[in-house]
Amino acid sequence: MLDLLVVGAGPTGLMLACEALRHGLRVRVVDRAPAPSPLSRAVVLQARTLEILETHGLTPALIEAGNPLRHAHFSTGGRQVSVSFDHLPTRYPYLLCIPQSATEGLLHDRLVSLGGRVDRGVGLHALRADVDGVTAVLDDGEQRCAWLVGCDGAHSEVRKQLGLTFSGHAYEERLVLGDVNWDAPLPTDALSSFLGDGFLAAFPLPGGRVRLIATVDDDREDELTLPELAAICEARSPWGGRLSDPAWLARFRIHARQVDRYRVGRVLLAGDAAHIHSPAGGQGMNLGIQDAHNLGWKLAMMQRGAPAALLDSYHAERHPIAARTLRATDVATRLGTVRHPWLRALRDLAGSAVGGLAPVVDAITRSVAELDTGVEHSPIVVDDAPGGPRSGGRPADLPVSEDHVLMQIAGPSTDADGRLRLRACVAVARDGWGDRVRVAPTTVAREGFDADGVLLVRPDGYVGVRLAPADPGRLAAALARAVGPPLPE
Ligand SMILES: Cc1cc2nc3c(=O)[nH]c(=O)nc-3n(C[C@H](O)[C@H](O)[C@H](O)COP(=O)(O)OP(=O)(O)OC[C@H]3O[C@@H](n4cnc5c(N)ncnc54)[C@H](O)[C@@H]3O)c2cc1C
Repeated sequence: MLDLLVVGAGPTGLMLACEALRHGLRVRVVDRAPAPSPLSRAVVLQARTLEILETHGLTPALIEAGNPLRHAHFSTGGRQVSVSFDHLPTRYPYLLCIPQSATEGLLHDRLVSLGGRVDRGVGLHALRADVDGVTAVLDDGEQRCAWLVGCDGAHSEVRKQLGLTFSGHAYEERLVLGDVNWDAPLPTDALSSFLGDGFLAAFPLPGGRVRLIATVDDDREDELTLPELAAICEARSPWGGRLSDPAWLARFRIHARQVDRYRVGRVLLAGDAAHIHSPAGGQGMNLGIQDAHNLGWKLAMMQRGAPAALLDSYHAERHPIAARTLRATDVATRLGTVRHPWLRALRDLAGSAVGGLAPVVDAITRSVAELDTGVEHSPIVVDDAPGGPRSGGRPADLPVSEDHVLMQIAGPSTDADGRLRLRACVAVARDGWGDRVRVAPTTVAREGFDADGVLLVRPDGYVGVRLAPADPGRLAAALARAVGPPLPE
């Protein structure tokens, strides 16, 4: 039987398939569209996503193909507030502007290099789940699998089949977008946005085009034209200038919705199928890729006998992160589209004041870069030691403090019999570099090891267990809770 059927080959489905293949699962990916979408859609990759995509060796190629935006300028009521991303604690202190079609292309290449492929023109129409597996009714017949993940976007058929409600609301605001050439003195290394009588944002894309997003007051349904977009730019920016060569012009509405369960038995949801929100802050695709990164290794461990608690932690860890994003993008959207002149004046005043408060700007930019999306709240995270990187937090680079050194971040490896072995235990020594300890739960229980503290780094890079002093019995128990019973020797 197939281990995993991934329904939908957008960024979420492609990332999930890559992760699952990397961890040794037998995977099939289907997509009802006959060809990948050529549309640019998401144009921002956040720092955390770039860190995660390092695992697949994709980050250098993305940076090469993208345009890093190191600043954001917000013009409100004649004042300009500028924010720099230079201080972000990451190797990628910027928003990487790159069309979604290019990101998907690189993820697809990676999928193929791992031995996978996308079966195109194959839609899912129904599914039947039981305790042992799932039967999917596809365009090309029935497919039996142990796990099925709906990565089939905002109108998810998988979600409908599960009978889950996509609770939330649609915004009144109407938006337009254009990927165009703009003959204006636009800074190419910054996001420029104008919050006045209507909102306009400009993201310089690689290759000279710019993504424009603006609110409009009418509810026209006809096709957006270049002169209409040019008139908006002229009215809201100081530049005027000529627009030309549109690659994409569209009108759209935005929604904020989320399901209340990410898992129903052997069927799960990820990406836009589970949550959608305003594009303010450029979070949607990033969240989907990170959902997939959280889920792939857990499904692999479930196939090797991990307890249900491990898979339940997918909802427990990822649902609150998307819920927080829905709230934050809602606030940003409402602030950006305030109509009443007095409220606008108040917003502009507050914006200028906040722009001068470094700690607040730091917190906001970290959050937008998704660098604070930890899993501290997870039921499988164990944190029982002072010092060193805290459990559930994003692992920092070496050294972590004067006294503690995180020696190595390592994922699981598969032994000759195809069994998954953890080699992600890391000794934290008080003096010097300590000894790296490679352990499986059984080895820990039997032999123990010398260290002043122990960190277990999960396959997705988060610290899952922090214990001190090294206590073989407690570590083995924590591992069993996190990843299942000890492997037979
Ligand atoms: C204008 C705009 C700007 C945006 N800007 C940003 C941004 O800057 N940053 C950001 O992070 N996000 C942004 N987003 C959001 C981003 O595009 C989405 O969050 C992202 O595409 C979600 O990826 P996904 O793989 O979950 O779903 P999708 O990309 O929607 O992919 C779903 C796939 O499933 C397939 N499918 C659907 N139904 C079936 C079925 N029944 N059977 C088989 N296959 C099926 C579809 O053909 C599709 O290929 C933006 C979106 C828009 C519209």
